[in-house]
Amino acid sequence: AVAHYDVVVVGSGGAGLTAAIQASESGASVLIVEKMPIPGGNTLKASVGMNAAETRYQALKGISDSKSLFYEETLKGGHGKNNTVLLHEFVEQAPQAVDWLAKHDIVLSDITITGGMSIDRTHRPADASAVGGYLISGLLKNIQQRTDIEMMTDTTVSAIDSADGRVTGVTLLNEQQESFRVQCQSVIVATGGFSANQEMVVSYRPDLAGFVTTNHPGATGSGIALLQSIGAGTVDMGEIQIHPTVEQTTSYLISESVRGGGAILVSQKGERFINEMDTRDKVSAKIIGLPEKSAWIVFDQQIREQNKAIETYLSRGFVVSADTPEALAEKTGMDAARLQATLTCFNQVVEKKQPDPFGRTTALRQPVSQGPFYAIRIAPGVHHTMGGVTINTHTEVLDEKQQPLAGIFAAGEVVGGIHGGNRIGGNAVADIVIFGRIAGENAAEYALVHR
Ligand code: ADP
Repeated sequence: AVAHYDVVVVGSGGAGLTAAIQASESGASVLIVEKMPIPGGNTLKASVGMNAAETRYQALKGISDSKSLFYEETLKGGHGKNNTVLLHEFVEQAPQAVDWLAKHDIVLSDITITGGMSIDRTHRPADASAVGGYLISGLLKNIQQRTDIEMMTDTTVSAIDSADGRVTGVTLLNEQQESFRVQCQSVIVATGGFSANQEMVVSYRPDLAGFVTTNHPGATGSGIALLQSIGAGTVDMGEIQIHPTVEQTTSYLISESVRGGGAILVSQKGERFINEMDTRDKVSAKIIGLPEKSAWIVFDQQIREQNKAIETYLSRGFVVSADTPEALAEKTGMDAARLQATLTCFNQVVEKKQPDPFGRTTALRQPVSQGPFYAIRIAPGVHHTMGGVTINTHTEVLDEKQQPLAGIFAAGEVVGGIHGGNRIGGNAVADIVIFGRIAGENAAEYALVHR
């Protein structure tokens, strides 16, 4: 007999798992299908946190923020290209999404800042190094507690089946490449982006040939092709983000929370060259413009102690450390006098609240003066695909004429439009939780009506 579920969720990243929990809580039986051997997707690599304004955790820390400022700064960071209807929904729903996570024992009570924002609004776990692993393990715990959610790994959704304009199920391929079907009334596509698909990236952006990617190998964009084959429209496909701080020998992302915690970027000469808290596109462009096409992220013991992610970088062996700035310069081949002058100047900006020559106004937390000192060589890598399929605020997938495809929903990086021309750090985790919830609720409602 063919197995039957109300809702099939394609992909087990943050968007898929959130959608599955919400669909189940809305009364649906759910199957999650994941093509990789383990759940979590690229969300497992998310480092910095989840942006939201007017949250209870901001209130507890006395941070005054507003949804309208969050909206304005996201739109500015996205070069004004964001889909404003989706962005409005995003900003509006963000605090409830933080609360929804807390209700599910996923507590993001620590707060930092990322490039392009003026206020601390990036919510992080207080007791974990990176948001991604914490989020995924928390969501999986909730899923294990629910008997109406099943998951298949090592299984790819190869087609969405329909008859008479109505979803009837999905076609699956297992590890042995055997094809089989399950029936359902609605489908949520949460397959993530295509940063790991070099050919697809270069087809839209020839200038990105040869760049490393920070993404997991499953980020191939198969969900976009799946949806296009049933008539979905796409938007902003050429808007591909490169992240400025990627360790090149391991493609390991150095979290924006390191700069958010007070670190600086210096050239091979030992000089600062940009406001480190500018948006990712601008910082990346400056690094590519340097003679070496790479730079160093420099921080001290105090920053290390405040950011657990740094312990991972140390254990991976790519952090250069030294007791003094002079010794650090020697080990990295920088000019010692210039590095020392750079630190002296930066520390004056921080301590004496002088204007920063590069215009940095945020994350001027404390002087970088407490040894040992650390440096990681970084350069940009392909990080996020802002483009994807078109949806409305109910996460219904839209065709080229903006008409919803009945019973087909999408959430997360597979969707285009929300982030416009440049995604702000911390907005992807917000995106997957906010729109994952909306997708789960709407797909369940649709499925129950059409049972
Ligand atoms: P998001 O952040 O939007 O949730 P992720 O990259 O975290 O996206 O997760 C997407 C997941 O979808 C990945 O684990 C990926 O392996 C999976 N996936 C992609 N395409 C398919 C497919 N056709 N069938 C099943 N799983 C897929």
